[in-house]
Amino acid sequence: MADQPQVIRTHHAGELSSASVGDRVTVAGWVQRRRDHGGVAFLDIRDASGLVQVVADPEEHDVVDELRMEYCVSVTGTVRERPEGTVNPDLETGEIEVGADSISVLSPSETLPFLIDDRTEVDEKTRLQHRYLDLRRPRMAANLKARSRATAAIRKTLDEAGFLEIETPTLINSTPEGARDMLVPSRLRPGEFYALPQSPQLFKQLLMIGGVERYFQIARCYRDEDFRADRQLEFTQLDLEGSFWGKEEVLETIESVLKAVVEEVRGETITEDFPRMTWLEAMDRYGTDKPDIRFEMEIVDLSDIVAGSEFGVFSKAIDGGGTVRGINAGSQEWSRSRADGLTEKAKSLGAGGLVWMVVEEDGSLRSPVAKFLGDNEVTGIKDALEAAPGDVLLMAADRWKVAVTVLGALRLELGRPKGHDDLAFLWVVDFPLFEEDEDGRITFSHHPFTSPASIDEMRDDPHNAISKAYDVVLNGVELGSGSVRIHDPETQNEVFSILGIDRELAERRFGWFLEALRYGTPPHAGFAFGIDRLVMILQNEPSIREVIPFPKTQTGVDPMTGAPTRVDEGQLGELGLELGAAARERQDT
Ligand code: ASP
Repeated sequence: MADQPQVIRTHHAGELSSASVGDRVTVAGWVQRRRDHGGVAFLDIRDASGLVQVVADPEEHDVVDELRMEYCVSVTGTVRERPEGTVNPDLETGEIEVGADSISVLSPSETLPFLIDDRTEVDEKTRLQHRYLDLRRPRMAANLKARSRATAAIRKTLDEAGFLEIETPTLINSTPEGARDMLVPSRLRPGEFYALPQSPQLFKQLLMIGGVERYFQIARCYRDEDFRADRQLEFTQLDLEGSFWGKEEVLETIESVLKAVVEEVRGETITEDFPRMTWLEAMDRYGTDKPDIRFEMEIVDLSDIVAGSEFGVFSKAIDGGGTVRGINAGSQEWSRSRADGLTEKAKSLGAGGLVWMVVEEDGSLRSPVAKFLGDNEVTGIKDALEAAPGDVLLMAADRWKVAVTVLGALRLELGRPKGHDDLAFLWVVDFPLFEEDEDGRITFSHHPFTSPASIDEMRDDPHNAISKAYDVVLNGVELGSGSVRIHDPETQNEVFSILGIDRELAERRFGWFLEALRYGTPPHAGFAFGIDRLVMILQNEPSIREVIPFPKTQTGVDPMTGAPTRVDEGQLGELGLELGAAARERQDT
């Protein structure tokens, strides 16, 4: 390679403007594009700040003929106005160009696996295999920048509010958040394992016991979950906790942080308080604990109107202690196959079926069940759903939870705005303390350190007990959760025992924590929200993988480094480990 120039760069490409006309500058970056026109070469040179056009005469500069896409170069020349008619209003630097005096190749590039622009569709595996090239694309560069702006705004807001940024360990004991632990074997203590944190939950509580009154951390968390939705094995949260705090202080602080991030990343000022809704209200009106309130299409209770209906599906559901609920999906393209598709979806969510009606021009209802409904029912349903001609009405008759969940899912499918141009934050408060897992066993709804709203209620009726837990939701995406914590060991033990963790087991797993609670623990509360999800929405991206610099695929693989990989037997031996039959069999394939 030729000698490197003495000065590699004096100016950032994207910052040059008419104000620099006449200046001699050296820019450095990548050759984004090269066009040859009438014996002159036009080179678009891109660096992290943007792009500038360089004009060079190949006769004068032999090196121009060598230049290919993504060669890394340094160019010295003079800034000049572009000739009339060649100004590019779409480009920040579109009024000027740099007339090259000298061009040096800092580093050549092989032929690219894909073009570095936002227009070319590239499959995700290829993008991830060459993520370092993918990150050069403007869209990805903007996402990384937004992410950095977001964390900067978080730090600034919390620093000004007197919070300490404190790191907690990542080789720890289990912190139950409802997922599987990722384990790391100990070499020095063969047969023993660390868990990677599902969250810093217990350490942040220990910090409160340790007299730190305001803590936060931009924390990496690990949850070994099946890749159902848009999830990663590791993700980043803003984690926060405060002493002598209750719910209000948490909500106020998190709200101020989120508003600061939106302002910093999107330049939008949110002046209003985020609306609040109880969990029960969210389920009842939207059929989900994370309502997207950018659109209405709310669920309406039709039970009183159709009680005693001749239509057995309605009357039987109500007689059996269930409910009949409906939504007005507005005007929709409607066909038999659409109706069948939505019915299938309703069934897959546990409903017996789905009742649909289309309001005709004359106000009558077109529906397979219309003939079973009396005039009063028809009028009642239409009034309750504020139906107009052309509207599609959907109804579910079932147990409350099933009926609202099904309609909630259909509501999203039929009404959810695409993308995230508008932002609708929402607090959901008063979550249940416990829920049932797939096997019908009682389990925690947030995590086992969450305070019940009332200890008596928890003792009397744990299945219906309310907690002091709350979520923040943005455009129907759960951004994060938090709660007021249990701060006395007796209540903590009671919660453990309702969860089926008896004293002995609690002592064994969490004895160290229960002991800590006995030394004058201050009342405390906190929260954590996902930074990946927040930046994804603010950047209008469809997946968190677009805002994580080096994500894994949906199957937990990094196509670039090949992780996870096999390790040799010697390394396993050092750790006192041996592969079981199933793992060995997999390795043979
Ligand atoms: N540790 C909780 C979580 O990661 C958040 C919190 O309760 O602060 O979901």
